[in-house]
Amino acid sequence: MAPTTTTDVNKLVATLINSNNVMIFSKSFCPFCTKVKDLFTSLKIAYKSIEIDKLGNGKEIQDKLADMTGQRTVPNVFIGGKHVGGADDTFAAHTENRLMSMVSPPTDKYDFDLVVIGGGSGGLAASKEAASFGKKVAVCDFVKPSPIGTSWGLGGTCVNVGCIPKKLMHQTAILGQSIKDARPYGWEFSEEVTHNWATLVAGVQDHIGSLNWGYRVALRDKSVKYQNAYAEFVDAHTVKCINRRGKETTLTSDKFIIATGMRPRYPNIPGAKEFSITSDDLFSLAHCPGKTLCVGASYVSLECAGFLAGVGLNVTVMVRSILLRGFDQDIAERIGTHMEKHSVRFIRKTVPTRIERIKEGSPPTLRVFYNEGGSEKYIEVNTVLMAIGRDACTSGIGLEKVGVKLNEKNGQVFATNEQTNIPNVYAIGDILEGKPELTPVAINAGILLARRMFAGSNTQCDYVNVPTTVFTPLEYGCCGLAEEDAIKLYGENNIEVYHTKYMPLEYTVAKRDAADCYAKLICNKADQERVVGLHILGPNAGEVTQGYAVAMKCGATKQHFDSTIGIHPTVSELFTTLTVTKRSGEDVEAQGC
Ligand code: FAD
Ligand code: NDP
Repeated sequence: MAPTTTTDVNKLVATLINSNNVMIFSKSFCPFCTKVKDLFTSLKIAYKSIEIDKLGNGKEIQDKLADMTGQRTVPNVFIGGKHVGGADDTFAAHTENRLMSMVSPPTDKYDFDLVVIGGGSGGLAASKEAASFGKKVAVCDFVKPSPIGTSWGLGGTCVNVGCIPKKLMHQTAILGQSIKDARPYGWEFSEEVTHNWATLVAGVQDHIGSLNWGYRVALRDKSVKYQNAYAEFVDAHTVKCINRRGKETTLTSDKFIIATGMRPRYPNIPGAKEFSITSDDLFSLAHCPGKTLCVGASYVSLECAGFLAGVGLNVTVMVRSILLRGFDQDIAERIGTHMEKHSVRFIRKTVPTRIERIKEGSPPTLRVFYNEGGSEKYIEVNTVLMAIGRDACTSGIGLEKVGVKLNEKNGQVFATNEQTNIPNVYAIGDILEGKPELTPVAINAGILLARRMFAGSNTQCDYVNVPTTVFTPLEYGCCGLAEEDAIKLYGENNIEVYHTKYMPLEYTVAKRDAADCYAKLICNKADQERVVGLHILGPNAGEVTQGYAVAMKCGATKQHFDSTIGIHPTVSELFTTLTVTKRSGEDVEAQGC
C-alpha cells in the first residue's frame, strides 16, 4: 500500500471508508486510538484500522482526511461511510446509545427490529431499553378479563393486580396495627376506629391509574409503538394483533420477546369459577370481601390473608400440604404460628371440593365443602379467594406455529439466557421455566437481554441469590438458600446456622408480641463461613434484606458481617452481632437493650 499520487491517496481513503463498515484511521502510539479500538472490540464490532504513522504516505492520508472532515487528529472514525469524529465523538455516541444503530442501522425488511408481546414488568423494561439504542420497537399488551370480568390497564401484573396494590393493602394493615400501638405511646382518641374498604380501593386504584398513564407516556417518550391488542404468532417473524373491537393488524419483526406473564389458576371443582375470586379481582373489589376463605398456602394466599385480617375481617386459610413451599420451612411455620395467634384460622391438609352460593349479595354467602378426617365438612364465608398458583400465558399465542419449546407440565418456556429454541424468539419474566417469578427479575432480565441484542453487551441476568420478601403481617425477607436446601447441598456438618429471636424496640412500649421475630444466617463452613442464606422474620424485613443481598452478591462471609458496625437501635443491626449457633442449642430468647 504505497500509492504516491494524490489521486491514488484519494482513491485509497475512499475505498477504505466505503468498503469497511467501521473504519478507524489510527496511529500506533496513540492511546486514544487504542481506547477506541478497545471499545469496538468489547462491543464485538468488527472494524478495519490502519496505522498511518507506519505508512510511507501517512502524511498524505492525514492531509486528505483533514480536507474531507476538518479533523487532522487521530483516531478518525467512519461508520457506514459516514464520518463520526475522534475518540470523544465515538465515546459520546456509545454513551448516548447511538453507536450500535450507526453500526447496524435498522433494515426495512421487517416493520420492527423488536416486537415485545406483553406490557408488564419485563416487557416494558425490555422495550424501552431496546428503543434507547435507536431500534424500532413495538409492545403489544392486552388484558383478558377475569372470569368475573375484572380488567385493567398497561403495566402487567405487578402494577395492577400484584406487588403494588398488595403492598398498599399490607400498609393498610400495618397502619391498623399502628393505631393500636399508639395508645401506650400516649395518643388519645376516643372514637371507635373502623375501616372503609371502598375508600381503600379508591385510593389504591387511583394510584394504579396514575401508573398506567405514566407507562403510556414513557413508551411514547421512548418512541416505542404501543398496541393495546392481543398478539398471536403467525410465523417466526409475524404476529397478528387483535384489539378489543376485534380489529386485526399484522406486525412483522426481526426479533420477538415473549413476556406474557401468568394468570391465576382455578381448581376443577363445581362452583370455582362462578363463585370465587382471585388476586386479579381482590384489589378492585367494589364491596368489602367480608368473611374470607383463602385457598392455597403460598405468597399470594398468605399475604392476602394477612392484610384482610389486618383490616379486621374474619379470615381462614385452607392449606393443601405445607406453608410456603420452597421457602425455609422453619420460618414458614413461624409465619403460620404468628398468623394463627393473630386471628387467622388455618384448615390444614385439605382442599375445597365444591362451592355453593347460599345467598346472593355484595358480598354473597358461600358454602365451601371439603373433606376432613374422612367426613365432608363445610365452611360458610362471603368470599373465596383462590390462590392455588398461576398458569403461564403461553397457550393461544401461536407458539406451536413457531415451534417454541414449552414445559408441557406448566406451560413455561424453556430458554437459555432468555433465548428460546427459535433463534429470533426470546422469553423473559414469569413465563420462564425454573426462574424466580418476581418483578425485579423480569425487569433485570429484560434490560440485559435488550443490551445483548442491540448494544453488543454480553452481561447475563444472574438468577442466583435473588432476594425476596413475603409481605405477611410479620414480613419474611430472605436471600439465598433455605436451611434444608443448604444442608442438602453442602451436608449438615458443613453448615453453621447462627440465629436469634429478637425484640424490635418499637414493640416494647406498645407491648407487642415479639415471640415470632426471628433471624438466622446460614454459613458454609467449608468456604470461610460464606453466608449462603439470610432469613429474617419481623417488621420491615423487606427493607432489611435488600442491603444484605448486595453483601451476599459480593460474597460476604460471617466474618464480614461480624466486622461491620451496626446501626443502633435498628432491627437490621442484629445481623452484625449473631453469636449463637443452632448446633449449640443455646437459648435464643429475645433480648432487649
Ligand atoms: P406480567 O407483569 O404479568 O405482564 C404480562 C402482560 O402481558 C400482561 O399485561 C398480560 O395481560 C399481557 N399479555 C399476555 N398475553 C398477551 C398477548 N398474547 N398479547 C398481548 N398481551 C398479552 N413480585 C415481586 O417482586 N414482589 C411482590 O411483592 C410481588 N407481589 C405479587 C403479588 C401478587 C398478588 C401477584 C399475583 C404477583 C406478585 N409478584 C410480586 C409477582 C410479579 O407481579 C410478577 O413476577 C411480574 O409481574 C412478572 O412480570 P412479567 O413481565 O413476566 O409479566
Ligand atoms: P404458588 O405456586 O407459589 O403456590 C400455590 C399454593 O397453592 C401452594 O400453597 C399450593 O400447595 C397450593 N395449591 C396448589 N394447588 C392447589 C389445589 N388444587 N387446592 C388447594 N391448594 C392448592 O403460587 P402463588 O400464586 O402464591 O404465587 C405465584 C408466584 O407469584 C410466586 O412464585 C411468587 O414468585 C410470585 N409472588 C411474589 C410475591 C412477593 O414477592 N411478595 C407475592 C405474591 C406472589 P402445595 O404446596 O401443596 O403445592
